[in-house]
Amino acid sequence: MDASHITSELTRVLYTNDQVQARLAEIAGEIDAEYADSDLLLVGVLNGAVMVMADLSRHLTSHVQMDWMAISSYGSGTQSSGVVRILKDLNTDIEGRHVLVVEDIIDTGLTLAYLMQNLQSRKPASLEIMTMFRKPEAIKSPVDVKYVGFDLPNEFVVGYGLDYAGRYRNLTDVGTLAPHVYS
Ligand code: 5GP
Ligand code: MG
Ligand code: MG
Repeated sequence: MDASHITSELTRVLYTNDQVQARLAEIAGEIDAEYADSDLLLVGVLNGAVMVMADLSRHLTSHVQMDWMAISSYGSGTQSSGVVRILKDLNTDIEGRHVLVVEDIIDTGLTLAYLMQNLQSRKPASLEIMTMFRKPEAIKSPVDVKYVGFDLPNEFVVGYGLDYAGRYRNLTDVGTLAPHVYS
């Protein structure tokens, strides 16, 4: 199906699907090497990380398991508060497991800071983060991110799992929304 009518709602494409896939292949190579001798569990954060999880996992050449969490961040409007509620917990006991959290985007890092503290208390053998995108604010966050796809400018982006009001997740490219979409 031709999604060009949706793509026309983007003012600027920041990363095409080809660029995303090429970067994921590189990161997958690093993950393959790092976890060559361990049984890796990928933990995706719903809903945004669905696309990253699907693509990253298929670039890996070793066995992995996948599990999912859904969290909701309390806060007013678009500001992240760092107070998080778990809507769907893992099905897997991660004690003694090598865990890699897979995220779509990190902005303030507040949501992820809470999540990491929560997961760390379950005593995994290791706990690291991979995110497809990172905003400038995130660099100030105490959360240490091992694998970053791309650093973004401080703009609101959609596509490749990222939504605006629940839409645009299914765009394969990532870009900024045209102003007419908001009004
Ligand atoms: P944080 O706690 O790091 O500030 O919030 C991260 C969450 O905010 C992401 O998982 C995502 O849901 C949302 N978010 C942050 N920046 C963007 C953006 O540019 N576009 C979209 N669609 N969501 C974003
Ligand atoms: Mg996310
Ligand atoms: Mg969202």
